[in-house]
Amino acid sequence: MQHQQEQHLQQQQQRRQHRLPAAAAGEGEPAGAEPPPKPKQQFKFCRMCGGALELTLPDGIWRHVCTQCQYVDYQNPRMVVGTIVQHEGRILLCRRGIEPQRGLWTVPAGYLECGESSAAGAARETLEEAGARVHIDAPYVMFDIPQISQIYLLFRARLAPPFTFAAREPESLEAALFRPEDIPWDSLAFSSVSIALKHYVRDLERGCFSVHSGVIQKRPGSGPNEPGSFQLVDHIQLATPETAPS
Ligand SMILES: [Zn+2]
Repeated sequence: MQHQQEQHLQQQQQRRQHRLPAAAAGEGEPAGAEPPPKPKQQFKFCRMCGGALELTLPDGIWRHVCTQCQYVDYQNPRMVVGTIVQHEGRILLCRRGIEPQRGLWTVPAGYLECGESSAAGAARETLEEAGARVHIDAPYVMFDIPQISQIYLLFRARLAPPFTFAAREPESLEAALFRPEDIPWDSLAFSSVSIALKHYVRDLERGCFSVHSGVIQKRPGSGPNEPGSFQLVDHIQLATPETAPS
């Protein structure tokens, strides 16, 4: 534990040195700058020793620091991994069985676990939510959603033998294959899924899959998929070698 604490303090020091100009190092915010808003989620106790946590602003970013052992409880974005599964020209969607957005449709996806590769996590989520074994073809979209500190990484995939699927409760109420023209656009759960599927259908129509990355900007206070409340910016589109036009 001592070693970890030292490592965290060292990391904190390195980050401070890295981020702040020399004159401001160790002084908190540079003079005249507005401090960033405090994080919505605040934690009370240290996960290492149970001591009280204090919210501090050591390097321009709010940090929870233990008042007893000085452990820095870094909060970092979470990665959501999942698949867009195609089978005979149709796309596999699940109707969510749990909140948030219970009853709405989505692609199989969930949080990446520690010790797991992103592709393995995407395949696992597909089995857990849609009861489907899949072959992962390629990364397809990577969307950052800074406002909710999430990164979405969805892979293109195909059903693998025995080519079956079934909703798995409690995660899903229903699983079904949709032709592109039948996708329930008004009943999709998340902005990321709406944007990913729109690109997917467009790529499918032109017969060339790209890899898309970008940032989803959401209107503060808006719901997970409110029409007109989000947009994709900094969109980068790369044609993949196997599907690039010759
Ligand atoms: Zn502690």
